[in-house]
Amino acid sequence: MKNLKAIEIRDKIINGEYKTIEVVEYFLKRAKKINEKLNIFITLNEEEIIEQAKRVDRKIEKNEKLGKLAGIPIGIKDNIITKDIRTTCGSKMLENYIPPYNATVINRIKEEDGIIFGKTNMDEFAMGSSNEHSYFGFVKNPHDMERVPGGSSGGSAAGVSAKVFPIALGSDTGGSIRQPAAFCGITGFKPTYGRVSRFGLIAFASSMDQIGPMGRNVEDIALLYNTINGHDKRDSTSLEGREYVTIKETKEKYKIAFLNSSKIATVNEEYLKREEELKKFLEKEGHNIIDVEIPELEYVVAIYYILAPSEASSNLSRFDGVRYGYRTEKYSSMEEFYKKTRGEGFGEEVKRRIMIGTFCLSAGYYDAYYNKALKIRHFLKKKFSELFKGVDFLINPTTPTTAYKIGEKISNPLDMYLSDIFTITANLIGSPAISIPIGFDEKNLPMGMHILADEKKDAMLLNFADILEKIVDFKGEPKIE
Ligand code: GLN
Repeated sequence: MKNLKAIEIRDKIINGEYKTIEVVEYFLKRAKKINEKLNIFITLNEEEIIEQAKRVDRKIEKNEKLGKLAGIPIGIKDNIITKDIRTTCGSKMLENYIPPYNATVINRIKEEDGIIFGKTNMDEFAMGSSNEHSYFGFVKNPHDMERVPGGSSGGSAAGVSAKVFPIALGSDTGGSIRQPAAFCGITGFKPTYGRVSRFGLIAFASSMDQIGPMGRNVEDIALLYNTINGHDKRDSTSLEGREYVTIKETKEKYKIAFLNSSKIATVNEEYLKREEELKKFLEKEGHNIIDVEIPELEYVVAIYYILAPSEASSNLSRFDGVRYGYRTEKYSSMEEFYKKTRGEGFGEEVKRRIMIGTFCLSAGYYDAYYNKALKIRHFLKKKFSELFKGVDFLINPTTPTTAYKIGEKISNPLDMYLSDIFTITANLIGSPAISIPIGFDEKNLPMGMHILADEKKDAMLLNFADILEKIVDFKGEPKIE
């Protein structure tokens, strides 16, 4: 059962081959076993999972119409609000937080009879690239347990890779869906900004945060994307309309730009070899291939690490110990109450970001940092809309390196920040982007290829990713049981 696509699980439930309860019991058993090794879940809502499955089975008994996600177990990153299920955001601050409502994406999954299958581990407040910043301990990479799974959606990525659930939701502010997808050998998609409602996504950097699907193939990604996308009046940045993507065979010939990525960062040799092969193949198939250099990409990490912490410092001011979350026990003044609550409730990385952000937004430095970064962001956006007048896609590695060892970069935040260099642009300009597995490096670790398209071209991007997936034919089973 573990090897089935999400779509196949649904179809087997609908045609009566499996009962939903059998499916969830199978995956629960597997989840508990693998979780002991990898630490994928912060919360596994076991009883409630059984209830959800029974509900779907009752619908089948009564011959009621089933939704598009009927009976599929879906891992949910723990920064997405789930009613009556603890939602911690990977933080001590929200260790005991039980939300009284659902995020819009959760409601949409439930309307389509999907199963909310556990809350997955993540870097605290989605700040990180390795999952080592989780208050609940780090996640391990299913391909090599001494290595990180990537982050911040590391629990979702590791869970899909280790076949604990076939699909999952992650969130992506600077690469947190795509980078862990690359490290774990799965597919991760960040939709166009505004396509998926952020209502109920605990905010990190609101102008870049985006929820998106993670899975082991593009068809499953499209299935989940089709359910969660669409206008939501409770999110003022939500785009109008709703998109339905069908993955179909296409003879379409595209114009594809390959980034000269070695000019920007030192890129894994194996990746470059695989990319070269793919380029030749696509050319032979009749696609129009060009090489591009975008020197401005050198600045994206710097811009991101001004804008994201600035927004975070403002968003996280709500965690004051008064309204919700952790509250310090002993204090003798109001000021001490705030200081101790926030000092004790937040982890190191979150505090670092709050301090950087507060500094960048302070009256004396606002123009020099925040405003300047915004100007460069606008410039980049213009640059890329020019680029997309001439090409359909930009391809580059998802990350400069494959998964690194646990502990390797934790004491050097700058080094860790640089691993986002190829993913951040999509968030700064609001474009859709996807990472698909392309092969293994010399250490037998998965590598991801990153495809970026112009905004609102999500459907075209997913269809192209499906073509590439078939060409690459990635067979990357982690050896975990
Ligand atoms: N690694 C990046 C950061 O730490 C991206 C995080 C994300 O996309 N949520 O900010």
